[in-house]
Amino acid sequence: MTRYRRLVRDLRQCAKWRGHKIGNGKPIWLPSYATDATGKDLPDRLVGYLLECKNCGKRGTVDLNPLPNGIDIGGEIVAIGCND
Ligand SMILES: [Zn+2]
Repeated sequence: MTRYRRLVRDLRQCAKWRGHKIGNGKPIWLPSYATDATGKDLPDRLVGYLLECKNCGKRGTVDLNPLPNGIDIGGEIVAIGCND
């Protein structure tokens, strides 16, 4: 299992454990804004994943490139229960 899939699974499990009603999250892609030597656009990069509760709207994210002092899973959805 890739690091991305593992982090997405952990985020979803944690949100469920908090009582949130989660649907399909969505991958977050970042445009490269760059071209290769031939002038062709480089492909977008997968940088994370966004999950939102259908009940309360709280959100959580996976960040594949956290800052050195940052965390790779975060957001209210993993910190606060659904109806708190
Ligand atoms: Zn919720």
